[in-house]
Amino acid sequence: MTNVSEGTSFAIDQSAAVALVMELMAVTGRSKHEGQVVAFVRERLLAAGVPESCIETDTANRRIPGGGETGNLIVKLPGTKRGPRRLLMAHMDTVPICVRAKPVLKGDVIRSSNPASGLGGDDRAGVAVVLTAALELFRRKLTHPPVTLFFCVQEEIGLYGARYVSANKLGTPKFCFNWDGGDANYVNIGATGDYAIEIEVEGIASHAGVHPERGVNAITIASLAIADLTQNGWHGLIEKGKHRGTSNVGIIHAGEATNVVTPSLSLRAEARSHDPVFRKKIVEAYRKAFELAAKSVRSSDGKTGRVTFGSDLKYESFRLNPEEPAVSLAKQAVEKIGLIPELCIGNGGLDANWMTAHGFPTVTLGCGQHDIHTTNEWLHVPSFLQGCEIALLLASGELG
Ligand SMILES: [Zn+2]
Repeated sequence: MTNVSEGTSFAIDQSAAVALVMELMAVTGRSKHEGQVVAFVRERLLAAGVPESCIETDTANRRIPGGGETGNLIVKLPGTKRGPRRLLMAHMDTVPICVRAKPVLKGDVIRSSNPASGLGGDDRAGVAVVLTAALELFRRKLTHPPVTLFFCVQEEIGLYGARYVSANKLGTPKFCFNWDGGDANYVNIGATGDYAIEIEVEGIASHAGVHPERGVNAITIASLAIADLTQNGWHGLIEKGKHRGTSNVGIIHAGEATNVVTPSLSLRAEARSHDPVFRKKIVEAYRKAFELAAKSVRSSDGKTGRVTFGSDLKYESFRLNPEEPAVSLAKQAVEKIGLIPELCIGNGGLDANWMTAHGFPTVTLGCGQHDIHTTNEWLHVPSFLQGCEIALLLASGELG
């Protein structure tokens, strides 16, 4: 473990931070079921002397389409010195395979000793980073500007907590930082945007042995459309001139018997691109391919199937200006603990997508996560501790 920071203002109690992250990863809390995580964080904050009146949960779960056990946990700490408010955030939910995580520490690495479970460093390591920074402020009675801690719900199933946050409860922060990633020197300043595509294909049922010609097979229509998209470069990695994107058909449900010409099929796909105009073009290519395919398959009496097409913007892409104050603060913090900051752009969605859309440009930083969403997931402890130091520097308002 690193000890470069010992005796400096941003040195943290390393064994307390490691114990905290291990406890947090053992707490059960997949998306929509974050109640125990809220209780854990609350209890630690109260024990450290944070007044109860500073802690609340919002009503995001009442607005999120699928509901949820709890809203987002928001903690507003008044400043003990002047300065713009800063916000530190991380998401509380984990993917379902992390539910029975049994974290064990070996050397510099934490893994789950349960071979059937993931670890949940995504994103309890982020929660532990934010919580450690706050606990250190209180433990060492450090002066700091106003700080908002934002622990959000339901990131993994669609960035819902950040999307539906009661934004007026965040206290108009000027600089926002999110911990959800790997190496501590990575400073993420942008991410792609993502459309969800839902297609219902309606064919015509008929006996597959007696009168197949009277039917229209919905699977045939979908297959022709997917083949068309693949052959014309609209499926998988998409490169058209200088435009880039990706798309994927991920889910198909159809059919119940082989002796029936399949009358219906439902399909789900996604389309991503940093470029909103090009992303819409990908969605349009899907629509055209399915409509064309539906017209091309006819029954013996000339009837065709039908396609119902739906798309929903899951999150818009964003790109922060590298000159943005939050970006420059994050870079300074990374440098101060002895690392070389590396600016990066991601191809997955982040809570920062929605925070930025709400008017709070948010930088995302690493906290030691590796091989997330798998049973091999592990946490790199030195990176996690560096994340804690960076968070403490950003919370204490020392830089700038
Ligand atoms: Zn995450």
